[in-house]
Amino acid sequence: MAPLNKVQAPSSQHLLHPMHPKHPLLQIYSSKEFECDGCKALGSGTRYRCDPCCFDLHTLCATCPSTLSSHLHPNHSLTLVNISNSKHRCDLCRDEVDGLFYTCRACDFDVHPLCTELPAHVQHVTHPHHVLKLEEHAIPGWCLVCRHTCRSWRYRCGTCGVDIHLECLLVSPETTTKSIHGATISTTVGVNHQLHHIHMVIITVTVMVMVMVTVMVIL
Ligand SMILES: [Zn+2]
Ligand SMILES: [Zn+2]
Ligand SMILES: [Zn+2]
Ligand SMILES: [Zn+2]
Ligand SMILES: [Zn+2]
Ligand SMILES: [Zn+2]
Repeated sequence: MAPLNKVQAPSSQHLLHPMHPKHPLLQIYSSKEFECDGCKALGSGTRYRCDPCCFDLHTLCATCPSTLSSHLHPNHSLTLVNISNSKHRCDLCRDEVDGLFYTCRACDFDVHPLCTELPAHVQHVTHPHHVLKLEEHAIPGWCLVCRHTCRSWRYRCGTCGVDIHLECLLVSPETTTKSIHGATISTTVGVNHQLHHIHMVIITVTVMVMVMVTVMVIL
């Protein structure tokens, strides 16, 4: 499968995307949930849309580069591809990649565009004294939040040898609603390991980081 060509951007609100070459996509905001026709994950808020065709893309999926250098896979650059029913899984969240995703063919490394946006380092209320680093670790560990086993990618404090699942990052073990850095995050009771959930977590984390940057700029 050939890599996708670079996105053309006639203006910041319109763009032509190789997945929908017939019509330009318009950037709109709606609180209504949508399924991204690129990566097939759900989204809400700002998106690129062709209204007559009901074609929607996450802002990230509409604008992400055709090749990407990422700390997630430092030795090779990743190529954006569009493959339906790939039968491959995202190395980070372990859900299927379907449609638009990044790959390193040499290493069989695949990742959702949204998963490339996970922050490399986070701080978490359950382990406030050390920064947790996003990393792949072969030895199973225990998640501080849900107490279930962590395999493969997780947020880890190497000093203390403790882990948090990617999808548990914003889940509180005791309460259903909590506030982190002023952002209120509602979660269902228990841990939901579905694609939708982790991608909502990723979007929320990204928004949170943006909010924090904004606050820092104001200060
Ligand atoms: Zn998408
Ligand atoms: Zn269209
Ligand atoms: Zn993923
Ligand atoms: Zn590689
Ligand atoms: Zn967990
Ligand atoms: Zn620690």
